[in-house]
Amino acid sequence: MNEIILKGIPAASGIAEGPSFILDKQDFIIPPRAVMEKEVPIEIARFEEALIKTREEILAIQKKIGSEALSQHAQIFDAHLLVLEDKVLIEEVIKRIKSEKLSSEYIFSEVLRKYIKIFSAIEDEYLRERVGDVSDVGRRILKNLMDENKLHELDNLTEELVIVSHDLSPSDTASMYNKNIKAFVMDVGGRTSHTAIMAKTLGIPAVVGLKDATLRIQNQDYIIVDGRKGLIIIHPTEETKASYRDLKSRIVQFRGQFGVIKDLPAETTDGQKVVLAANLELPEEIPVVLEQGADGIGLFRSEYFYMNRVDLPSEEEQFEAYKKVVEALSPETVTIRTLDLGGDKFISSLEIPRDMYPFLGWRAIRFCLARPDIFKTQLRAILRASTFGRVRLMYPMISGPSELRQANAILHEVMKNLKDENIPFDEKILVGVMIEVPSAAMTSDMLAKEADFFSIGTNDLIQYTLAVDRVNQQTDDLYDPGHPAILRLIKRTIDAAHKENIPVGLCGEMSSDPVLALVLLGLNLDEFSMSPVSIPQIKKLIRSVSLKDAQELAQAVLQLSTGEEVGELSKQRLRELAPDIISNEGGNQNK
Ligand code: PEP
Ligand code: MG
Repeated sequence: MNEIILKGIPAASGIAEGPSFILDKQDFIIPPRAVMEKEVPIEIARFEEALIKTREEILAIQKKIGSEALSQHAQIFDAHLLVLEDKVLIEEVIKRIKSEKLSSEYIFSEVLRKYIKIFSAIEDEYLRERVGDVSDVGRRILKNLMDENKLHELDNLTEELVIVSHDLSPSDTASMYNKNIKAFVMDVGGRTSHTAIMAKTLGIPAVVGLKDATLRIQNQDYIIVDGRKGLIIIHPTEETKASYRDLKSRIVQFRGQFGVIKDLPAETTDGQKVVLAANLELPEEIPVVLEQGADGIGLFRSEYFYMNRVDLPSEEEQFEAYKKVVEALSPETVTIRTLDLGGDKFISSLEIPRDMYPFLGWRAIRFCLARPDIFKTQLRAILRASTFGRVRLMYPMISGPSELRQANAILHEVMKNLKDENIPFDEKILVGVMIEVPSAAMTSDMLAKEADFFSIGTNDLIQYTLAVDRVNQQTDDLYDPGHPAILRLIKRTIDAAHKENIPVGLCGEMSSDPVLALVLLGLNLDEFSMSPVSIPQIKKLIRSVSLKDAQELAQAVLQLSTGEEVGELSKQRLRELAPDIISNEGGNQNK
C-alpha cells in the first residue's frame, strides 16, 4: 500500500504511531475476554443463539415491511439473511473461539472488522455496497451477544490506538484520560479548540482540521501522527517509520535538556522573576503539574468537573475536589476559574439547548449571573476550600465593570452566609477577572480598580477581536496571535493593571509559544500559565534572556503591522538571544 500524507492543523505536539481506530458514535469497542477451556462450548452456543435471534428479528422486520407500502425494500433483508447463513464467516468465528479461547463477542467483532475491510476494498461496486449489509447484521449480532450500552465504551479499549474521529467534544476527550490512546486525529477543529487543549493536557499528540481523515483512514490502518507539523502519514514505509523514530528520540533528547532547571526560578538574566504556572483541566493531572515544576495553577478550568455526568456536582463534591487540588499544590497558589460553560464546552446535566450558548451567546459569567443557584454552590465550595492553601478566584468572560460588580455582589452574599454559618474561608481571597472579551481589555483601566488581578485569555480574546471562530478549521489561517490589534490590547491591559499595582497573567495557548512568550515578557507580563508540559521550555527561555532585550523586542514588534512580520522578527531575535530554545524540527503551535 502506498504511503499517503494528510495535512491538518497541529493541535498538540509530539509524535505517535500505531493502528487507527475510527471512532464514530456507531462504532463498537469490544475488549478481548479470556474464557476457560470448559467455557468454549458455552461461548459457541451463545454465538449460535445470537445468530438465531438475529435471524428472527430480521424475519420479523421483513414481514412487517412486506405488509406495508415499503415492500420493495423488504428484499434488502434477504442480503442480511445471507450474511447470517455465511458458512465461511460462521466457521471462522467458531474455529477461532476454540483456538484462541476468547469470548464470542470479541472474536466475532474481529472477524466482522476483517470482513468489512475486505468488502470495502473490493473494486466491484455491487459487492462493495454489501459492506453496509455486513456491518448492519454484525451490529445486530453483537447487540444480541452483549449489553448494548457497553458497545461503545472507551473503557473497553485494551490495545494502544490512534483515535480518528470526525469530531470529539471536550468531554469525549476528557473521558479518554488514562485510556490506551496514542494520539487524536480529527476532521474538524482549530488549534485552540478545547479538544486540542485537552489533548495537550493529556500529553497526547493531536492533529485537527483534517477535513476528511475519517474517510481516508480505515480502521486498523497503521498511521504516524506528527503533532508538531500537523501531518498524518497513512501506511508509512519502513524508511518513514525509521526517520520518525529517529526524530522522536531527538525530540525527547531536546526536551530532556529543559528538565534540569525544573527547580530553578523563572528569572531573566537581569533578575526579573515571573510566575510560570500551569493550566489544569483534570485533578488527575496534578502529578504532572508538580513534576514540571509549576509555580502553582494559573487557571483551573473547573467546568470539566461538570462534564460527563448526568447531574450537577453538589457543593460537598466540589469542595472535596477543590480541596484536593489546593492541598496538593500548597504552598503554591491555585487560581480557580468559575464555571465557563458554553462555546465548545457543553454540560450534559443542564437541559439547555446547545444553541442557547454559542461563543457569542448565554455563556460563562452571563450564565452564572442568571443561574445564581448554580453559581452560589460553586462559590461556596471554592471559598470553603480556600482555607486549605492559597486560592484565588477568577471570573470568565467578564465584558466590563458592570458584570464584575454583579458577580462580586453574589460573592459577598455567599461570604456573608458562610460567616453567619460559622464556616471558615479566606476572607482576603483575591478575586480576579479574565480579560478575554475586547470590551474588557478596553475597560481594563476601570476593571483594574475593582479587581485583584487579571488573567488574559487570548484563546477567546483573539477569536472575539478578529471575529475568527476558534474551533473552525476553515478560518484557522486568520487566527493570528501576532495581529497588531491583539498585541495592543494585551499591552493596554498590562499597563492598566500595573498602574493600579495588580499583577497580570496570560493563560491562553499563546503563553506556551516561545516566540510569542518572548514578546509577552517584553510587554512586562507577570505570570505565564500553560499546559504543564510546556513549562520547562518557557522557563529555559526566560532564564536565557534579559528583560531589557525582551522589552526592546516588544517595542519593535508593536510598530509592525502584520502578525507574520511580528513572528519573523521575534523568531530571529529568539534565535540570536537563546539559540537552543526552539528545535530545528519546527513545532511552533501558535504560528
Ligand atoms: C482563553 O480563552 O484564553 C482561556 C484560557 O480560556 P478557555 O480556553 O478555557 O476558553
Ligand atoms: Mg476563554
